[in-house]
Amino acid sequence: MELQQLVDRIASEVTPGGSAADYIPALARIDPHTFGLAVATLDGEVFGAGRYERPFSIQSISKAFTLALALAENDDVWTRVGREPSGSPFNSLVQLETEQGIPRNPFINAGAVVVTDHLGLGAADRLLEFLRQESGNPSLDVDPEVAESELDHSDRNHALAHFMASYGNMRNPVDVVVREYVRQCSIAMSCADLARATLFLARHGVRNDGTRLLGVSGAKRVNAVMLTCGTYDAAGQFAYRVGLPGKSGVGGGIIAVVPGKCAICVWSPGLDARGNSVAGVDALDRFTTLTGWSVF
Ligand code: GLU
Repeated sequence: MELQQLVDRIASEVTPGGSAADYIPALARIDPHTFGLAVATLDGEVFGAGRYERPFSIQSISKAFTLALALAENDDVWTRVGREPSGSPFNSLVQLETEQGIPRNPFINAGAVVVTDHLGLGAADRLLEFLRQESGNPSLDVDPEVAESELDHSDRNHALAHFMASYGNMRNPVDVVVREYVRQCSIAMSCADLARATLFLARHGVRNDGTRLLGVSGAKRVNAVMLTCGTYDAAGQFAYRVGLPGKSGVGGGIIAVVPGKCAICVWSPGLDARGNSVAGVDALDRFTTLTGWSVF
């Protein structure tokens, strides 16, 4: 089946469900039944269905890109954050105490805050520049309304950062790092933008301009952490159903990588109890079942 027919078929078959995240008030206003799907092939061509060109809040999807940017410099970030699934909610404080301020992985909030701190001041602008280049969309930006709404409700992220600071695992002032982190999460992108921006992971580290962000091993590692830790404490269920590295966000987006073939982004704001998009996981499950394109 042609990719365009395939994405059209999936968009017509999925039933959006669940409810939009409401702990960030600006996200609660989005219609949970909206659906978009985009597949970008290695040459940058995009096949889309539904609202695939409508920007949404990327939220935790940003964490896959900040990890890649940190690893592009060197492996030092692994002295400050682990790479095991947490089995706990993304914003949990519990493990940090028993594990002396070293977060389990870079995709729970505590771990992502450490990665942002590691990238240093201006981390969100660096990420934005990277995403503009990879998506080919120079107008990408932070959604100021979402950023303000999230910053007004970021007591827990401040608590995580202060807790890590008490263990010496924070280099910059907590307020500054949390502001950077909130800005990176509040970037607005469409499924088409995100699918294109994720292609470097499908090309084993090679960017859209032919230069390398990561070596083959670096790309393998980001994909591996996405597979094991990228979809909250439902990563096992996601691997079972979809069989691809993926990273979800509470805005309802999920990116997924088929190494050597394509990058996918699906968006539907209705979330399940673990925080993953209901229709998003369903669409990716159908995609890998219909194409046989999985890492397994
Ligand atoms: N900015 C959100 C937070 O820190 C990200 C959550 C997510 O998408 O997992 O709570």
